[in-house]
Amino acid sequence: MWLSREEAATLYARDQVVWSIGDELLRMRGGINRVGIRSEIVMAPIIACEGDSQRWNFVPALSNRLLFRRDGQLCMYCGESFDDRRLTRDHIVPRIQGGRDRWTNVVAACARCNHRKGGRTPDQAGMELLAIPFEPNVFEFMYLANRQIRGDQMEYLQSRFSGQRSWAT
Ligand SMILES: [Zn+2]
Repeated sequence: MWLSREEAATLYARDQVVWSIGDELLRMRGGINRVGIRSEIVMAPIIACEGDSQRWNFVPALSNRLLFRRDGQLCMYCGESFDDRRLTRDHIVPRIQGGRDRWTNVVAACARCNHRKGGRTPDQAGMELLAIPFEPNVFEFMYLANRQIRGDQMEYLQSRFSGQRSWAT
């Protein structure tokens, strides 16, 4: 997960960092102790801690912001680019036909295409999907959730992407 400096510093201070990756380091200065030495924590951009293997089964919560980013801010029907305000969440199998609200059944669509499709499947509407929707894994989710990612962090995440989509980075 993404951590604040303070959260990362806490893990270092508790000696819970098992290994780390990345060359450029963040330094955080603390107080001065009784013998006059200032405490300092040197942090790497990627750190690993023990425990919580549950995260490997992690399914990111579906939100429009992440969905639109997954689909590259493009309408998955006409292929045009839109900002968040002009995109909608389209249920490929519509909810009135029993379609579920989950990653693999939703795509970004502009209002016009969504309206045209209405309560129909793409087949029924004679419309074609430009890409197969997929559920982001934890690393893809981390990429989608943060717009400011360092090069070494990106490299780490990218090497763990599921390969279901080539991402514009
Ligand atoms: Zn469209």
